[in-house]
Amino acid sequence: MDYSNNRYFDLFRKQKENQYKVANTNYKGRTKKLVAIKHAIEVTYKDQIREALYNDFKKPFAETDLTEIYQIIGEIKHAKKYLKSWMSNHKVSTPLALFGTSSWYKYEPKGVCLIISPWNYPLNLTFDPLVSAIAAGNTVIIKPSELTPNISSVMAKIIKDLFHENEVALIQGEVETSQELLKLPFNHIFFTGSPKVGKIVMEAAAKNLSSVTLELGGKSPTIIDETANIKSAVKKIVWGKFLNNGQTCVAPDYILINETIKDDFIQSFKTQLEHFFTKDVINSNSICRILNSDHFDRLINHLENAKSKNATIEIGGKSDSDKNFLEPTVISNLPEDASLLESEIFGPILPIKTYKTLYEAINYINSKEKPLSLYIYSSNKKNIDFILNNTRAGTTCINNNLLQASNHYLPFGGSNNSGMGKSHGFFGFQEFSNTRAILKQNFKGFIENFYPPYTSAKQKLIDLTIKWF
Ligand code: NAD
Repeated sequence: MDYSNNRYFDLFRKQKENQYKVANTNYKGRTKKLVAIKHAIEVTYKDQIREALYNDFKKPFAETDLTEIYQIIGEIKHAKKYLKSWMSNHKVSTPLALFGTSSWYKYEPKGVCLIISPWNYPLNLTFDPLVSAIAAGNTVIIKPSELTPNISSVMAKIIKDLFHENEVALIQGEVETSQELLKLPFNHIFFTGSPKVGKIVMEAAAKNLSSVTLELGGKSPTIIDETANIKSAVKKIVWGKFLNNGQTCVAPDYILINETIKDDFIQSFKTQLEHFFTKDVINSNSICRILNSDHFDRLINHLENAKSKNATIEIGGKSDSDKNFLEPTVISNLPEDASLLESEIFGPILPIKTYKTLYEAINYINSKEKPLSLYIYSSNKKNIDFILNNTRAGTTCINNNLLQASNHYLPFGGSNNSGMGKSHGFFGFQEFSNTRAILKQNFKGFIENFYPPYTSAKQKLIDLTIKWF
């Protein structure tokens, strides 16, 4: 295939030519690069990162520190600790029939990789996969979201500061930039974004049989049963839902609550909201804004749709279009065809649905696409096991939310509509690696007894081998 007309082919070619040099670095060389990224984010560019995210969508500095900077620093520390063992040869056993051989596998770099990232945690979701890609020994082209231009510019500066473009390059641009890049025969594509665009990425990748990791979104349900500690559950859900103002892939999208505790839940929710953000939420410095007017309008349309179907606004509902501000809003009594129950909300609106039995709750969840995250609040082990065994989800957190995405020892990712492949820690390293199987013949082995010509004696030996070895 001729790619010479592609705007980015020259850069791609340079990375391809350089890939073995990058691949053949040892763990010390790779760690050095990771430590340089850590220093840039933690020290040199920290203030610029905070300012940029504030300018992009008024993200509070504390949230930038916790959900962007801290996450990447943690990922780097974790990789630094384990990279040597991840990169070593992994010996495996030898079946008797292969006597005379030894076997092992190793993780080799995939080659030239593409990372496409979204706007909602733009720094974290660009550098987190980058850490894994570098740890695994790849060269990388990055395309961040065009919707958060301030942080994209800072990220471009960091990458330019630390890497030659034949190793890591960041290209800023609109959707067309992604589309042009996606035509190139990358060895791996790591995409984070919506399921809709995930399908476009996978289709483009199929043309070159590039492997893909798709970190997608969807509706993450939260089940609260009658044994849950309501006050504690509410505190965590208010935090998990309104962190980043609901613009989080693993945010609790909607609540499924036992009908007997709904009123207590809503009462407690109001109190907790005031405690976190005061009664004057619009002036609170602890909550960021909806990204832009398109997303603001999308959320207002959801709200209008709910109102037109006689849903009950339990809390909030007021908005200010000049500031892309919508009060934290809780809605109940939504009919099944309400748009809020059909698409990922990705904003400060929380629908509540009640259930009578847990069967009803899990049947509802199982009638939808597999979620990225499913949350359970309960103090009854039987109920927790019942939910875990009868639903499917990429990740689950019990008696809390979001935290499952912060443990570097856990894989992170969805299933089917919410994604494929895993990231974080070893799982991210593995995703950017080809697991190469190696068998070495050490001395004349048993297997040569099976070579042609196939005499009756050999057939007997084959029969014995099938039966006993
Ligand atoms: P998006 O899918 O609109 O965009 C993501 C990236 O894809 C951007 O860089 C964009 O430029 C590019 N893109 C957009 N349209 C494209 C097209 N037609 N062809 C090629 N590239 C295209 O997602 P978003 O709005 O930036 O982010 C929100 C979505 O991402 C939500 O669905 C959320 O749940 C999901 N998300 C998932 C995770 C995860 O880890 N699973 C994390 C964050 C966000």
